[in-house]
Amino acid sequence: MSQALQETARVDWSLNDPSLLRTQAYINGEWVDADSGKTFKVYNPATHEVVAEVADVGVDETRRAIDAAAVAQKAWAAKPAMERSVVLRKWNDLILENLEDLAILMTVEQGKILAEARGEVAYAASFIEWFAEEGKRVYGDVLPLPQTDRRGIVIKQPVGVCAAITPWNFPAAMLTRKVAPALAVGCSMIAKPPHETPLSMTALAELAHRAGLPAGLLNVLPTSTAKVVGDELCSNPTVRKLTFTGSTKVGKLLTRQCADTLKRLSMELGGNAPVIVFDDADLELAAKGAAASKYRNSGQTCICANRILVQDTIYDEFVAELKKVVGTYKVGNGLDESVTHGPIITRKALEDIKALVDDAVGHGATVAAGGEFGEGDSQFVEPTILCNVNPDMRVFKEEIFGPIAPIFKFSTEEEAIAMANDTEFGLAAYLYTGDQGRSWRVAEGIEYGMVGVNESLFTSQYIPFGGVKESGQGREGSRYGIDEYVETKFICLGNLDA
Ligand code: ADP
Repeated sequence: MSQALQETARVDWSLNDPSLLRTQAYINGEWVDADSGKTFKVYNPATHEVVAEVADVGVDETRRAIDAAAVAQKAWAAKPAMERSVVLRKWNDLILENLEDLAILMTVEQGKILAEARGEVAYAASFIEWFAEEGKRVYGDVLPLPQTDRRGIVIKQPVGVCAAITPWNFPAAMLTRKVAPALAVGCSMIAKPPHETPLSMTALAELAHRAGLPAGLLNVLPTSTAKVVGDELCSNPTVRKLTFTGSTKVGKLLTRQCADTLKRLSMELGGNAPVIVFDDADLELAAKGAAASKYRNSGQTCICANRILVQDTIYDEFVAELKKVVGTYKVGNGLDESVTHGPIITRKALEDIKALVDDAVGHGATVAAGGEFGEGDSQFVEPTILCNVNPDMRVFKEEIFGPIAPIFKFSTEEEAIAMANDTEFGLAAYLYTGDQGRSWRVAEGIEYGMVGVNESLFTSQYIPFGGVKESGQGREGSRYGIDEYVETKFICLGNLDA
């Protein structure tokens, strides 16, 4: 297996529409180079090939984008929601028409297998379609007041100019589930993609342009210096909201930076998802569900199973089931359709994952499956199962962000709930049980923003995605996702008898 992890099979790729590969910044409806003329490289994590050199913008371009977004937002907000919806629907259609090209671009810059990339592009489009509709249903209220000559009215208005900072693990969907509700209600957006994967976002901006989105409403600022662009987005008073998906560490930093201008915030941060498997569960379903959640995108999602908590009476049986699933996996270049799991985003990220496994093994954990890491500059890791683990190990406390499944033991329901809650995170959690009463008790007893009961893949445009505790604040998707982009205004109509 080690040999396979070293091989970086090169698979030729090309786009049906090469003009979707956009390498400049998109500001005020135009594709532009960085003022400095500088670029940075985007690498294919499976092969280390340079995919593209992308404009490396700084603070001046950021200010221009904010100014353009402020002007464009006023005119956009004045349009009826139906008109905004028409543009969003066109954008959705163009994304779906170009789904294969967008998926290939995503696989070469991010590493995820083509099947997952296709799924993400469709998922990304689904937020645009959804909010194109929800934007038409931003209702107000008439309030009963104690004075008979008054009426109280509540209206919802767009927050204004918004900024989005997004991560590399979902290069398309993390943009659309922010920008779609923003545009739908009449906001404008300045988006900063991660430097690892800017190409999915620039391709989406190209399609927004073709859909007829007016200039200045969506601006994309690729940069190798996230801090420079980020500082401006957080401190500029014209920006009224920051929506961020990424690490808890950076989320806290950005929250502090936004304090001086008291921006609205949506923070979708790290997770430490438990999968609780009770002895009354369907074990095959639980193992398949745990594996699907754990190893998806090679373990690089914030809702990936991080700690699998299994009742002691069925521990060995569960591990055997999980091993069966893991035995079917094939690691490699995501463009190869026979591959089930692609590379880790960077060698540094792989080293971080390896350090967690080394810590566990150093403290007595045993490797029940996998355990091999590619050497040299390889970014491949075998899907791994760790047994004999305990809550003192780093794999219990930290977000692994790799294909490593530590399987912990518990004996009672109370202990399982306490273990699940023994973390500063609270994003997604999963539980497997055949007992209705238990599913309610546990789902209500654990401190998480999302809970899957006998289900581990539940994300879609229909659900409110988000966390509690240090996993963040705010919800994305569903009808709740609109609330993040509107302000509530009260209007008092007085002296109606005068
Ligand atoms: P990840 O581990 O997913 O890379 P990060 O929180 O480091 O998580 O990155 C998420 C996003 O935040 C990326 O777009 C990254 O460029 C950006 N980012 C990182 N540091 C800063 C910063 N100091 N200011 C603004 N953005 C930042």
